[in-house]
Order: sequence, then C-alpha cells, then structure tokens
Amino acid sequence: MATPSKDAYDAVIIGAGISGLVCGCYLAKAGLKVLIAEQHHKPGGYCTSFRRGRFTFDAAAHCFGGYRKEGITRKAFTDLGIDGKVNITKSDPSDTVITPDHTVSFWSDIQQTVEGFRAVFPEERESIKKFFQFLLNPDPHSFSRMRSWTFQNLLDQYFANDRIKTLLAAPLLGLGGLPPSRMSAFIGSKLVSEFLLDGGYHPDSGMQALPDALSERFKELGGELRLSCLVTKIREKEGEVKGVMIGKGDLLPSRYVISNCDARQTFLTLLGKNKIQEELRGKLASMEPSTSMFIAYLGLDGQSRFFPRPGTNIWFLSHYDLDKAYGAAREGDVDGFGGYMLRLSQDRSTLIALVPAPYKTKRYWLANKKKALECIIKKIENNSIPQLTNCIKYKTAATPQTLRRYTLNYHGASFGWAGTPSQLAVSGFKKPSFVKNLYLTGHWTTQGLGISGVTYVGYDTAQIILRKEKGKIIYSHG
Ligand SMILES: Cc1cc2nc3c(=O)[nH]c(=O)nc-3n(C[C@H](O)[C@H](O)[C@H](O)COP(=O)(O)OP(=O)(O)OC[C@H]3O[C@@H](n4cnc5c(N)ncnc54)[C@H](O)[C@@H]3O)c2cc1C
Repeated sequence: MATPSKDAYDAVIIGAGISGLVCGCYLAKAGLKVLIAEQHHKPGGYCTSFRRGRFTFDAAAHCFGGYRKEGITRKAFTDLGIDGKVNITKSDPSDTVITPDHTVSFWSDIQQTVEGFRAVFPEERESIKKFFQFLLNPDPHSFSRMRSWTFQNLLDQYFANDRIKTLLAAPLLGLGGLPPSRMSAFIGSKLVSEFLLDGGYHPDSGMQALPDALSERFKELGGELRLSCLVTKIREKEGEVKGVMIGKGDLLPSRYVISNCDARQTFLTLLGKNKIQEELRGKLASMEPSTSMFIAYLGLDGQSRFFPRPGTNIWFLSHYDLDKAYGAAREGDVDGFGGYMLRLSQDRSTLIALVPAPYKTKRYWLANKKKALECIIKKIENNSIPQLTNCIKYKTAATPQTLRRYTLNYHGASFGWAGTPSQLAVSGFKKPSFVKNLYLTGHWTTQGLGISGVTYVGYDTAQIILRKEKGKIIYSHG
C-alpha cells in the first residue's frame, strides 16, 4: 500500500448523520485515519435536538428500534462501546394506534401485543399470531419471493378484515411515508418488526445524545470530526477518488470517500454530472424520493389528564382510507390527511406532532406554515387533548424546506428514496461501479432507513472497505 502524505486520510466521510458516524467509528476502530466532514454545526443529521428557551425538542427522529438483544442497533452500539455512554430507555407501549372504533398498542411483551390485537379482532386470532411470528422469524426465502410485493399484498395474504390491515399499516405512513398499496412488503415488514415490535428506544436526555456519543467515541478512536465543514466536491482522477474539496477549495486527499449525504448531491453536484454514467443519470432522474414531513413542536406549561403516556408514539387516524390520507399529504392538505403522530416527551415538557408533507417552494411554506401548525393543534384538541391550547407556552414548526436546509437531504425526504418495491436495494448506490473507492452510506443507498436501518448500512459499508483493506498494514491508533 502506498504511504499517503502526512496530512492525507485513509477515508473521508461526507456527513455526520448516524450512518456516517457508525461507519467512521468502525473504520477508525480498525486503525484507519478517518475524517468526518459535517456541514452543520452539530452532528446527527436528522437525529439532532435543539433548544428554545427552557424547552428541548428532538428535531426529527425521536426514538429508534432494533435494540433488542440481537438487534442491529444494539450490536453496533455494543461493538463501538456507545451503550455505556448513553442511558437508553424503552417506552412501553412504544406505539399506540387509534382509529374512530379501535385502539391497539405495541408492547415490549409480544404476547401482550398479540392478545391486544386478538381482543379487538377475535376472528383474526390465528392470523395475528402467524403474522407476528413471520415478522419476528422471517424465512429468507419468503422475502425473496416477496420482492415485487407491496405491503398490502402481504397483509392480504394473512388477513380478511380490512380494519386490522389499516391499523397495522397506519403508522407506516409516518415511519416510511407510504401507504401499504405503494410500500414494498420487505420494507413494511422491517418497519413493523424493527420500529413497532422492537421500537420506542430513546436516550433519556434526547436524541442528540446518540450522535454526541458516537462523535465522542469516534474521536477517542483517533478520528477527526470537523463541524461547519461543507464538502463542495469529490475529487476523482482516472476513475478513482482522490479526496474531497471543502469550503472554497481546500483539497483533503483521501484513499476512500464515503458519502453519507443524499445520492443526487453526491453524484450530480459533488462528483459532477459529466463524471457519471448515463444509466445512473437516468436512475437519479426517474427515482422517487420519500415523503417529507411537517413537524409541530409545542412547549408545554401545565398538565392535562388527557395527555398521552410520555414516550409513547400515538398514531391517530380519523378514517380508514390510507390512500386518501397519502393523497392529501402529497397535496399539503393537513386537514384532509385526517391524522397525526403525537409524542409527549418523557419529562412532559414538550409535545411533537408529525404529518407527512410535500416538498414545495419556500414561498408556499412561508404562506402556509402557520396555517398548518394551527390546523394540527386544532385536530389534536378535537381528537386527543381537549383545551391543549391552554397548556402551550411555546410553538414552532418545521416544514420540508426546514428539513432540507438543515441536512441538505433532497426535497427534505425523510427516509432517502421512497420504499417502493421497484426502489428496493437498487444496485449502484452503495458502491458505484464506475469510480474506484467511492462508497455511499445512509438512507439514500436503498438498503436501510431509520436509525436502525442506517446503523446497519454504516456497519456494512465499513465492513466492505475493511475486507478490501484486509492483510494491509494500516495506521494504528492503539
Ligand atoms: C421528521 C422525521 C422523523 C423521523 N423519525 C424517526 C424516528 O423516530 N426513528 C427512526 O429510526 N427514524 C426516523 N426518521 C428517519 C431517520 O431520521 C433517518 O432515516 C436517518 O436519521 C438518516 O440518517 P443518515 O445518516 O442516512 O442521514 P442524515 O441524517 O440525513 O445525515 C446526513 C448528514 O450529511 C450532512 N451533509 C449533507 N451534505 C453535506 C456536505 N456537502 N458536506 C458535509 N456534510 C453534508 C448533513 O448535514 C447530515 O448531517 C425520521 C425522519 C424525519 C425527517
């Protein structure tokens, strides 16, 4: 292996989202000299928190899944020694779904969840057990058989009652931004098994604690993290990456470049349109990003007996038509969507509410932000917490424009590419074939979404690189 110059890196990672940080920690732990360059002034991407006066809000992600004993997030955090740095609690139930006629909850005890569903849908007694068993112990062959299926196709295989299908799929509008008729069966199954059947984990002090702990560990392992550091170019020569440019043109040489930022930015802006293959250009133009979100952040003063259980995600839907809800969300029609996800913080000081929302111009959101915020508050008052307004001390909102501005995710997409069957594990994103030593990590790879999904992708991208490095003598940071 050629010895790089004194200030060269083995790997530069563009972006300190959870996936970039996990990937960086694994590479640094193996002895590589790694830099993570993050454009924002704090690490975390969609997994950050912010303060307004005495209120602390999680900006986007507010809990995570896949943390049971053999779960992927648990494995990665244990490998990296993160679990000792953050106090992680599980809400129980993690999620409750409420429609006009039914309420079901997802408990830590799976049997309690099964019995809860059975009490509401006794005629689906056997199917409920079989469905959850399938999700928890999937046969890998059944997933390859389901490759082109939608989640609706999968639900139809198990259940006759349309109501139970709606209750199982309603949270996926928020967890994946799609109705079951459009969501891949594989992704839908993963979301239910990782986010609902093993979800609701959160650091006691808020989600910022996760990227902060990963950043601290990364630095202990010898990694270098530069914040407020925008990468403006990926330097490539004769089909091989040479490093990245930051700010106005400083070149940071590196043997590997790993992009944690969105795929369109990576290929079209950072690498350059003329450097990528026609086929990839076509994919980037035709593929659909996932839905963005509108988020209401409410700081509370006082309590109400109608407040939900702290830490539990409440999925409320006033009807049973998920395609209609999705259609309204795409139009920015918060009222027509007919629902929301609501979460009271553990210390009962803040409430956040989410609805899927379209990426529209700054002008549109400037004109509609306040209206959308008031509409959500009114809906919560009418359906969940009467007289909520009396408890609100502070209120603000994030639109899809806000999400894009802080993370540079294309169109403020919440989960990378939309999780449809045709956009599942698309080749060419994680490891583009036409440029050597460029990799992607994170939710734009089409290989994982949400905190647990991108943790897995970060781990996997690092392993691919480390397998390439195997046998070579590399830097050692002890
Ligand atoms: C409103 C909302 C709620 C959500 N709730 C949950 C939840 O409760 N649980 C859950 O598991 N998932 C949730 N998700 C999804 C989850 O947050 C994401 O899938 C995940 O955090 C994505 O991580 P990532 O590392 O792939 O990318 P990101 O978090 O997008 O990180 C990318 C990073 O790259 C940086 N960057 C971009 N361009 C550049 C550049 N040119 N130079 C330097 N840095 C750059 C960005 O600033 C950012 O820090 C939610 C998403 C949203 C939007």
